[in-house]
This record gives sequence, C-alpha cells and structure tokens, in this order.
Amino acid sequence: MSARILVVEDEQRIASMLQRGLIYEGYRVEVAGDGPTGLALARDNPPDIVILDWMLPGMDGLEVCRRLRAGGPVPILMLTAKDAVADRVQGLDAGADDYLIKPFSFNELLARLRALLRRAAPASAEVLRFADLSLDTGTHQAFRGERAIELTAKEYELLELFLRHPRQVLTREVIYDRVWDYDFGGESNIIEVYVRYLRQKTESTGEPRLIHTVRGVGYVLREE
Ligand code: CA
Repeated sequence: MSARILVVEDEQRIASMLQRGLIYEGYRVEVAGDGPTGLALARDNPPDIVILDWMLPGMDGLEVCRRLRAGGPVPILMLTAKDAVADRVQGLDAGADDYLIKPFSFNELLARLRALLRRAAPASAEVLRFADLSLDTGTHQAFRGERAIELTAKEYELLELFLRHPRQVLTREVIYDRVWDYDFGGESNIIEVYVRYLRQKTESTGEPRLIHTVRGVGYVLREE
C-alpha cells in the first residue's frame, strides 16, 4: 500500500504542484488549504506523513503542528520561507520532524519524505532497555520507569540510536549520519537541540541524567 500524504498548503500553485508530483510518484495525496481542514482530515483518516506550510491563513502552521503532534506520532515536514535558525528551532519545539525552505526542489522534497517514511516504518517490534529507560520499537512508546514519554519521530530515532549503543560514545558525525542522513544545510546545532529535548523529556520528574555530553566528541548513554 502506498503511503498517504496530507498536504496543508494555502498557496494553490504549490499545493497542486505537490499533489500532481506526489501522485505521479505513487503516493496517495490529500490536500487542505487551511489548518482546521488539515486537522479534520488528519483526524478522520490519519496520514503516514504531513507536509505542512508554516504561513497559513487563520491558524498558522506552528499551531497546526502542535495539534497534529498532540494527536499522534505522524512525521511532519514543514515548508517555510523563514530560514532563521530561531524560527527553525521554534518549529522543532512545536514538533516538526524536518524542514524545507521555500523555494525547494521537488527531488529534495522526495528525498526527505522517503527518509521520514523509512524511519517511521514498522520494523519487528522489540523493547530496548537501559537503566529504567525503555523504548518499544513497535509502538514507539518510551518509558522512564512507569512514566510514559511522548516522542516526536526524530526524537524517537535519536533515542533508539542511543539505546542500541549503550555506554558507547556516539560522535556527532555518527549521529548526523544515522539520524539525519542528508545534509541539514549546515545547521550545526540540530543535535544539541534534540538532545536537549530528550533530556527534558527523560528527566522531567527529576530522574538522573542518562544522556551525557562528551565534550568535543559527542554523546553517550550511561549511568552516572
Ligand atoms: Ca502559505
């Protein structure tokens, strides 16, 4: 079954270009011209991935992103004309998994979609454990002890990488390569941003830190 893509984009020209191109590539595509319509479509028939424009009339893309994220772990690729790092971080905070700056090439869009879909694809499920941290690779549900932790698609990828390599120092290059398998346009703080998210989520009720910084090298999952 081909992947279902929900496109939320108010610019008619871009929306129809995406729809035509993605259908040609074999995807099933639904298009919404505004946030509330997009959210309703996503709720009625959950897509495999969402392409979400940042600048939307009424409810902006960030708010749509937050609400989509609250509804489940669907990968979200944001389209934005904004290229300031602060804006990107704001989008990541809202739960977007990836970005594409307008104008973008369609081939670049396809590459990013494939990467996000590949990561979201169900593999044979197992539960990875380290200390009191566990991660179910089937449901993508994480737990710290009994406490459930909600993860975005990218946070899941990063945490899974750590859990598959406990006590092993992962260099920034390895993390880039495994979690972001394309050039992220030179934005070098993306790993720090995601490590911060994972720390916030895994330490939110005062649990001891498990993801440690190895200065000048990378990160390691270990107990104090
Ligand atoms: Ca727009």
